[in-house]
Amino acid sequence: MKRETSLEIRRSRRFPGRYARPAGGHRVVVGVGGNLGDVPRRFDRVLDYLRRSGRVRVLRTSPLLKNPPFGYLDQPDFFNAVVEFETRLSPFGLLRWLLWVERRFGRRRSFPNAPRTLDLDIIFYDELRWRSRRLEVPHPRYAERVSVTIPLTLMEKGPR
Ligand code: ADP
Ligand code: MG
Repeated sequence: MKRETSLEIRRSRRFPGRYARPAGGHRVVVGVGGNLGDVPRRFDRVLDYLRRSGRVRVLRTSPLLKNPPFGYLDQPDFFNAVVEFETRLSPFGLLRWLLWVERRFGRRRSFPNAPRTLDLDIIFYDELRWRSRRLEVPHPRYAERVSVTIPLTLMEKGPR
């Protein structure tokens, strides 16, 4: 399969965007990824779902980054973005709920780095540093993944 190796920045209805001013709660950045079906459309629906959930206050979103897969290469390109929000949920409460949201949007776990409809990873939770099998924060590989660092930088550079 011929692969395009370039990175592309894309926009969708909800990415990038600014949605609310800070009002208190734990400050969280979540990485959003996926590579099956109409991913930008799904991300928009996920963002609307998060905003309506009452569990988080979405502050802003990054643009979408279209990027080639790593690990298992014979699969479609990924889209990645980050979402910043505030929440009253605990770290493990948030993780549990995000895994549930992944399933609600069709995620089926098969093998590591397999194609997926939706991946939600906690990148930062306040200044928390936590290392366990079920939860690692900051996300252990975010600093070396352009799929996270580029959306994060674009969001930080965007208008406040
Ligand atoms: P990956 O995101 O690395 O491709 P998965 O999405 O399949 O892998 O996640 C597998 C497990 O990773 C989850 O069940 C969760 O317990 C664990 N995990 C550890 N740290 C985090 C984090 N910061 N955010 C989300 N999941 C995490
Ligand atoms: Mg994940």
